[in-house]
Amino acid sequence: MTKYLITIGLETHVQLKTNTKMFCGCSLKFGAEPNTNVCPVCLGYPGALPVMNREAIKLTVMSGLMLGCEINRRSTFDRKNYFYPDMAKDYQITQNTHPLCLGGGVTVQTPAGAKRIRINHIHLEEDAAKINHYARFSGVDFNRGGTPLMEIVSEPDLSSPDEAQAYLLALKQILLYAGVSDCNLEEGNMRSDVNISVRPAGQERLGTKVEIKNMNTFKGIYAALEYEIARQLNTVTRGGTLVQETRRWDPDLGETQPMRSKENAHDYRYFPEPDLVPVSLTDDLIAEWRAQLPELPAARRTRMMGEYGIPEYDAGVLADAKENADFFEAAARACAPGLGKTVSNWFMTEIMALLSETGKTIRECALTPAALAELVTLVDERVINGPTAKELLPELFREGGLPGALVEARGLAQVSDAGAVEALVDEALAANAKSVEDFKAGKKAAAGFLVGQVMKLSKGKADPKLVGRLVAEKLAKRA
Ligand code: ZN
Ligand code: MN
Repeated sequence: MTKYLITIGLETHVQLKTNTKMFCGCSLKFGAEPNTNVCPVCLGYPGALPVMNREAIKLTVMSGLMLGCEINRRSTFDRKNYFYPDMAKDYQITQNTHPLCLGGGVTVQTPAGAKRIRINHIHLEEDAAKINHYARFSGVDFNRGGTPLMEIVSEPDLSSPDEAQAYLLALKQILLYAGVSDCNLEEGNMRSDVNISVRPAGQERLGTKVEIKNMNTFKGIYAALEYEIARQLNTVTRGGTLVQETRRWDPDLGETQPMRSKENAHDYRYFPEPDLVPVSLTDDLIAEWRAQLPELPAARRTRMMGEYGIPEYDAGVLADAKENADFFEAAARACAPGLGKTVSNWFMTEIMALLSETGKTIRECALTPAALAELVTLVDERVINGPTAKELLPELFREGGLPGALVEARGLAQVSDAGAVEALVDEALAANAKSVEDFKAGKKAAAGFLVGQVMKLSKGKADPKLVGRLVAEKLAKRA
């Protein structure tokens, strides 16, 4: 049986988080009425001239710096000519010969250990308009036309759908940390084209390359790769030949379908864009942008372990999503020093459970870092007990507000007055003589039951530690 090697490369388009389009001042607000955020430039009127968006250049360079790329001091734009209704000018302004960033890479975890996925380059370009198909006609929405896209082109270093998924997740995490894109997949902020080929082990030359276009979910990419690998292996093992082509993933049918035979780069007749000057970046400017880079997840994990005294595992889970780490740190900083581990415990257990139950992100729920800090502090200062705090949390998560006010309004403060608690203990012992007898007969579990009865009499408000101590003392006297 011949063994086959699988080669996958990804071209990932990422929408940059700018206020306006790549070459004009039109707004990029998502969800506007079709063709309302348009002007002569992004509608491709003859004679309209593009003006470069400086912020898009900066965000692309910052991404390149975070991904370990080399930044080209001089980069240029080119015209990529093609004919399709999504591009009124009949060419896309992109970067072909001198992109902004070269090299770099992402390290991903695979079952076989860490693997470096190299990046070939990152270039900047404008998005095409969006074509919507309706029952009786199709429409072109130019709101999307001219959106700044950064295209991250990987080397063909990936060899399975799992690696492709790990690569995209790692990329997304870094880009979110860098704040260069919202990486919102539903809104099409991150779309990947996939190149894939198979070849017999031992053969140097790569097999026939097939490109699958424009997938915007990680699940879709995974499924398309699985399907395409099986299709190609099936063809070659039966002695068939593959054709170089572009295929389309159909999520409903769960298969890829031929779209067009693959064009070569020279079909696009790339030539330098005459309406834009080259981008010159000085060392000083790049140094200035480098200084604005945020801390990466690994560095943040280490710092949080030291700063809040939390274990590596907690720090890793929290640092995984920037918004969780931001929330945790804001809450921990609002508490007295030394409560970091307690805040982390709340986040890792109760809050994570609420997040997965509701399918919300920490930014979408109503809980604020200030409310969590106050809740932890109320328990720490023994104003309320743990069970009361746990009962309040879902309400704060759903409706917001501060726990102190709820405790006050509902009289939830815990009863820590020894005299009052002692009276409740006496009452419970008198009402449960059988349990007291059981305890004396050696059934130690009876003590726990009695503690529960006292908590019940206090409507859950007694200080559980104090109750435990008093129950133990009283039972010891009777033994
Ligand atoms: Zn415009
Ligand atoms: Mn592209």
